Amino acid sequence: MSSTSTTRDDETRAATREEPSESESALETARRQLQHAADHLDIDRNVVERLKHPKKVHEVTVPIERETGEVEVYTGYRAQHDSVRGPYKGGLRYHPDVTREECVGLGMWMTWKCAVMDIPFGGAKGGIAVNPKDLSVDEKEQLTRRFTDEIRTVIGPTKDIPAPDMGTDPQTMAWLMDAYSMQEGETIPGVVTGKPPVVGGSEGRDEAPGRSVAIVAREAIDYYGKEIEETSVAVQGFGSVGANAAMLLDEWGANVVAVSDVNGGVYDPDGLDTHAIPSHHEEAEAVMTHEAPETVTNDELLELDVDVVIPAAIGNVLTADNARDVAADIVVEGANGPTTTAASAIFAERDVPVIPDILANAGGVTVSYFEWLQDINRRAWSLDRVNEELETEMLDAWGDVREEFEARDVTWRDAAYIVALSRVAEAHETRGLWP
Ligand code: GLU
Repeated sequence: MSSTSTTRDDETRAATREEPSESESALETARRQLQHAADHLDIDRNVVERLKHPKKVHEVTVPIERETGEVEVYTGYRAQHDSVRGPYKGGLRYHPDVTREECVGLGMWMTWKCAVMDIPFGGAKGGIAVNPKDLSVDEKEQLTRRFTDEIRTVIGPTKDIPAPDMGTDPQTMAWLMDAYSMQEGETIPGVVTGKPPVVGGSEGRDEAPGRSVAIVAREAIDYYGKEIEETSVAVQGFGSVGANAAMLLDEWGANVVAVSDVNGGVYDPDGLDTHAIPSHHEEAEAVMTHEAPETVTNDELLELDVDVVIPAAIGNVLTADNARDVAADIVVEGANGPTTTAASAIFAERDVPVIPDILANAGGVTVSYFEWLQDINRRAWSLDRVNEELETEMLDAWGDVREEFEARDVTWRDAAYIVALSRVAEAHETRGLWP
């Protein structure tokens, strides 16, 4: 395993480039957002400088024997951004586009996400550059076990706690927990969250990111003086985040008019029966099989004339090219990093509120924290308790962000960053920053 310093060329370029480009990486976006928020705060510049870099990035090779008998070697990463408030925390992504730089940017977002929710974790992200669709279940298991072994010394329930992200799921987390536990000689469920409940996972963890998106969307709808029953919603992505957000908003009375998966979307101005549409979990890429009056492309979905649009699939979908064409009155970020810096500026200029990912989808890591508490205490919570506590945490965080939003006349993203960064910076200053 190589733990490399952070002065790689790509990161230096990301830190110094003046103008955002539309192909900006997660790291470039994350750094710009950090600087933007820091400009509003009177915090030690050295702390901000430190936070633009991860503490460590681990890069490993992950060889597996494919079913053809050939050995294939993949590259895996674990980027650990900051742990001043507690153990590193964040997902593992299996996707062909996973890079070192992307893990660093996404890890940085985890630091803010945990801080905005005021949960005692830092930020990390990892993954393997692989298309999981190309692997059989056995190959995916082998890959996960081998990767776990390669990063075993840098993870652990008080060090760094992975979780699911794009391309990984509760089963992946169960394999990781098993591989780690076998090496340690005892069952250690708290090393990872997002496991199936039968092996120490939490009830409600799977739907938590979508639930928090729905809660925050509901609060935003109310804040802007609308009734949820009179609100139309379009959701891009029908995986764990998008499907759960869409179904809950539908249950709460909103008119969910469009949802999509990677192939495109279905649109019914009178409202879709979201429960009748197969989520990615039930049947992958099956949204288009649902009968609806109209179909839309993923680009068209974002520009539909709706009250709320929720990008809940992948990053960088709202760009300088389409931000002026977004007709929705409110954008709620379900995915991590769906809005580029240039698009954020356009939304700010157009006075379109964008409720940021680090708040909106933070229900995932919040219930991860509940899961970790349950694992440590060896005591499971009921689904009702999980959902009640999640609701409380989300409303508290929403309230903290709203206060900054109103007091400082900034965007919702800056307000969320200000809450998060103040907490992280104060912890650094109080502990004493040791660069
Ligand atoms: N991957 C999720 C996220 O981006 C969850 C992370 C976690 O639970 O640690 O928020």
